[in-house]
Order: sequence, then structure tokens, then C-alpha cells
Amino acid sequence: MHNAQALQGDKILNISKTKNMIVRIPKVAEHDGSPINLMTIKISDICPKCGAKRGTKIFDGFSYDGSRRLNVTQWENECGHVDTYADVREEYYKMQS
Ligand SMILES: [Zn+2]
Repeated sequence: MHNAQALQGDKILNISKTKNMIVRIPKVAEHDGSPINLMTIKISDICPKCGAKRGTKIFDGFSYDGSRRLNVTQWENECGHVDTYADVREEYYKMQS
């Protein structure tokens, strides 16, 4: 019992250290360059793949859907994992349910 709690310690620590970061991303993959297809959301600043710090560098960038560009938030993670906007949308919708 005591061991099980100790094993979970790191995870609990990570969650308690979690902060939110606000990002603007495309709502859909084919956004047509339209601001209507932007969503501004709060997500965790912890990498969902490994628990490292996410968004150590946050900057303005472009999403290109094949025909049009859209001004969006881009970020880098400490661990080098890349968050796709599709993954981030899924993460966000899961958080809301
Ligand atoms: Zn990671």
C-alpha cells in the first residue's frame, strides 16, 4: 500500500506542478486561412507523451493547410516531442468532457 503510493508520487507531483498555457490553434485541419476556424484554448503545460515541460518556447507562427495560412501559436517542448494541432484538439475536448 505504502509502496504503491510512493510509486505514484512522481505523477502526483507532475499534476500539482501543472499550469495552463493559452494557445491559438486551427479548429479544423482544412482551415482555409479563415480566422473563424481558430480556437483559443487553455491546455496543460505538461507534455502528454512524457510529462516534461511543454511550451518552453512559445511564439507566433503559421499553419498552412495546403492553400491558405493562418496565424497560430507554435511552441517547443523541453523533450522535443511535437504536439500536432489534431492531438491538441483531442486533448482539449477530452478535458472538457
Ligand atoms: Zn514529451
